[in-house]
Amino acid sequence: MKDKKGVAKVGNYWQQEIETASREQITKWQNERLVNTVKRVYENVDLYRRRMDEAGVKVEDIRSVDDIVKLPFTCKQDLRDTYPYGLFAVDLKDVVRLHASSGTTGKQIVVGYTQNDLDIWDDICARQLVAIGATKADKIHVSYGYGLFTGGLGLHGGSQRLGAVTIPVSSGNTARQITIMKDFGSTVLCCTPSYAMYLGESLEQQGLTADDISLKYGIFGAEPWTEEMRAHIEKKLGIKAFDIYGLTEIMGPGVAYECQEQSGMHVNEDHFIIEIINPETGEPVPDGEKGEIVFSCISKEAFPLLRYRTRDIGVITHQKCACGRTFVRMSKPMGRTDDMLIIRGVNVFPSQIETVLLQKGYSPNYQIIVDRVNNLDTLEVQVEMDENNFSDTVTGISKMENALQEAIKSLLGVAAKVKLVSPKSIERSIGKAVRIIDKRKI
Ligand code: ADP
Ligand code: ZN
Repeated sequence: MKDKKGVAKVGNYWQQEIETASREQITKWQNERLVNTVKRVYENVDLYRRRMDEAGVKVEDIRSVDDIVKLPFTCKQDLRDTYPYGLFAVDLKDVVRLHASSGTTGKQIVVGYTQNDLDIWDDICARQLVAIGATKADKIHVSYGYGLFTGGLGLHGGSQRLGAVTIPVSSGNTARQITIMKDFGSTVLCCTPSYAMYLGESLEQQGLTADDISLKYGIFGAEPWTEEMRAHIEKKLGIKAFDIYGLTEIMGPGVAYECQEQSGMHVNEDHFIIEIINPETGEPVPDGEKGEIVFSCISKEAFPLLRYRTRDIGVITHQKCACGRTFVRMSKPMGRTDDMLIIRGVNVFPSQIETVLLQKGYSPNYQIIVDRVNNLDTLEVQVEMDENNFSDTVTGISKMENALQEAIKSLLGVAAKVKLVSPKSIERSIGKAVRIIDKRKI
């Protein structure tokens, strides 16, 4: 496969023996590691011990991957209930790093890593970089946010592990990003797909084209994006764009990654077991059938979640991939089982907006309109006025709107435009209320 500026080699592996292991070998690793992890969490994590006892599952009942279905599920609420350290399976003195999800006030969760966990994370991110054709000679421009968010430091670690020239730019200051890209000769860009689009537009605005920069590849993830968006980014930046999937709870970026075949993302099965379940019944569904993605960590020391329900909907295939990798492939997430929205990288639940409105004395007649303008997500909340909250002057209305905007910003950490509308003007529904109008086409 050739791209515009470079020749990408198929068959590039970071840890070839692992990435191309036989199914038999993968199952062997998974059996051993799952058994060990179950033992460790039973001994060290109250919640798991209690859940297994309640379900009548003994440590000895878990002898292989096939027994995983006997284990209880874990969900985001469990992380909140045990916040901050209740699910850690090692003593804090052995933890060398903490990360938190971009989750907003009151919803934040925290995860931890031992040095060994970080080493594994570096390796799986290096696998991704090598899989797309990157080498030590590349200059890897990391524009994911650094800090508690896993994106920045995750790919940073992979890039350093590979031995590439790592450029830890972090997010923001777009004009500077482009100057750095141009002057330093960045060849690989890592960021969210929406930021990649924005960078592409900004390049144009500065009167530059893809030929003025040296980018060859991009690794984009942390939010949903479409094939159309991929084509758009590739054209604007003159690169080949790859998808990367991950979540803070399980590790961060690199849980699954695209190879040059670009037909699904290989799940790093030596470290994570993926299951697809029917979200209603919890029963496993076969290859090729849509369901909720569930992950178990089988080599993590500090924060090994078992059967974690991601709420992402996807499908998997065990069919052989032409790249030679044997790890199962998962589709792009095709939606969520909950109504979480990702707005400019921040997780937003409509219920949080509802909470603000109710706290401020408004009726729960509202609609959330999400759009993407100039490649940035916009959030508008339309709220009905009622007899308690009413004004018929422009200044009166705008004062009320500003107060709500501020309250939403402070609870969600994301700016929203509030528009007060006249009483009874939001269409009532006979079934479920239509709360969200997402115009982003992603
Ligand atoms: P954050 O990364 O914003 O701190 P999370 O770790 O909770 O918060 O984000 C993980 C979620 O992001 C996933 O469960 C999924 O919904 C979404 N996500 C991550 N990578 C991708 C991707 N490549 N495509 C689509 N959605 C993704
Ligand atoms: Zn492949």
